[in-house]
Amino acid sequence: MSDRPTLTTTAGAPVPDNQNSWTAGERGPVLLQDYQLIEKLAHQNRERVPERVVHAKGWGAHGTLKITGDISKYTKAKCLQPGAETPMLARFSTVAGEAGAADAERDVRGFALKFYTDEGNWDLVGNNTPVFFVRDPYKFPDFIHTQKRHPKTNMRSPTAMWDFWSLSPESLHQVTILMSDRGLPVDPMHMNGYGSHTFSFWNDAGERYWVKFHFKTQQGHKHYTNEEADHIIGKTRESYQEALFGGIDKGEFPRWTVQVQIMPELDAEKTSYNPFDLTKVWPHSEYPPIDIGVMELNRNAENYFAEIENAAFSPSNIVPGIGYSPDKMLQARVFAYADAHRHRLGTHYETIPVNRPKNEVHHYHRDGQMNVYGGIKTGNPDAYYEPNSVNGPVEQPAAQEPPLRIHGDADRYNHRIGNDDYGQVTALFNLFDDGEKSRLFANIAAAMSGIPQEIADRQLAHFDRVHPDYGNGVRKARETMTGREPAISVTSNTPQQAAE
Ligand code: NDP
Repeated sequence: MSDRPTLTTTAGAPVPDNQNSWTAGERGPVLLQDYQLIEKLAHQNRERVPERVVHAKGWGAHGTLKITGDISKYTKAKCLQPGAETPMLARFSTVAGEAGAADAERDVRGFALKFYTDEGNWDLVGNNTPVFFVRDPYKFPDFIHTQKRHPKTNMRSPTAMWDFWSLSPESLHQVTILMSDRGLPVDPMHMNGYGSHTFSFWNDAGERYWVKFHFKTQQGHKHYTNEEADHIIGKTRESYQEALFGGIDKGEFPRWTVQVQIMPELDAEKTSYNPFDLTKVWPHSEYPPIDIGVMELNRNAENYFAEIENAAFSPSNIVPGIGYSPDKMLQARVFAYADAHRHRLGTHYETIPVNRPKNEVHHYHRDGQMNVYGGIKTGNPDAYYEPNSVNGPVEQPAAQEPPLRIHGDADRYNHRIGNDDYGQVTALFNLFDDGEKSRLFANIAAAMSGIPQEIADRQLAHFDRVHPDYGNGVRKARETMTGREPAISVTSNTPQQAAE
């Protein structure tokens, strides 16, 4: 008698034979009553959940957030008090590629974090860049369409990308970071993470501060050139998974220094830039980063699908002491991310173990897909509505954040008027040494390969406004590339392919 466990159907009955289907006669056909065969085929048909529209290709791991600094005067969040240790999950990703895309492609990296605090899950769903391409969520679906496949050719279209970017100067900051060295990190460990949006902190006294989160790699920054990445992709499409999973498997635990920038609430009315504009940073000289602790990744998932693919991050997940801000992009993501998970994983996606808070949840939401932990979460079958007189869960007023001061009339304000889309890009350009600048020019020239001249000219005019050396550098790099242009103008390929 074998001591191995018995294979069962999903209903728990033993499976007598998992090698040979049940047939009428040795030469078939199979019988409909071979339920185990039908179940295996039916399950295989359903093994995929809808792929994320953005950030489909990802790599992740579990870890810990340890707080060492003291920011108790800014926030009452228990997970941010000195000495707090919070289990967490990280998922890194590329934005545009599908689930099978190669890892080492030039793209912004997602940097999504879920902290399982005693007061509920807190998610920071950021990127490896402190800014983004657009500042108004109205533009987000259009922008993403330019990054994904052309509806007719089913290929990526640099023409669409540069058409959109050149007509949207607010994208210049992020485009410059994307095309610079930091646009192609060697793996998730050698890049920074940024909460990107402005959030708020609030303390026991009900005072509000604005906050930005930064995660500075302790491994140092490492990047590939386009040529190096081409070589890597030629050898393996899974270089990030190999590096992150393999490293943690060997006991090499990556760490990030956690920092915050704090802005007193009323400062937001006097900064020269809109501090809630996702295309802008807060200069360090004005709001210096404060070290508050360390994030370490130290445990691989046992099952990629269950713990990384099924992980559902949403900026809507905040805890007392942390709040949103008037950032328009954040406000849209508070809705859109949770909604994407309801669509992708089911209405009650937070019952999936990797998404479940570690503290008990009590709510009156009913029924629907994925309500797998049974009924209504009130602890009393008669408490299925609220208010009730049967001791069902009730609200906790102390969890209400202080009032948000809002100024101005409701209107559709033109977000391009009065915004300096160039100054902070100039500050970044001035940080680059000569080598970084020449790689920036070459990367842009390669990515622009084959696009119509009219679009290129419109974009070059933006580079000129950042710094004359920027526009001229890209022009020269384009001229150098001309001899290497493909004979047929290819307008539907990735920046990476265009570099070849
Ligand atoms: P600082 O010089 O004080 O800030 C420099 C910041 O830029 C640091 O966080 C640094 O990150 C980062 N940085 C340094 N070199 C590079 C590079 N080659 N590529 C990308 N990022 C780099 O100046 P400011 O705060 O006034 O910011 C100047 C510009 O730096 C901004 O316009 C923005 O483009 C960029 N930046 C600013 C950040 C901010 O929060 N203020 C954050 C990240 C970038 P690190 O410490 O990891 O080297």
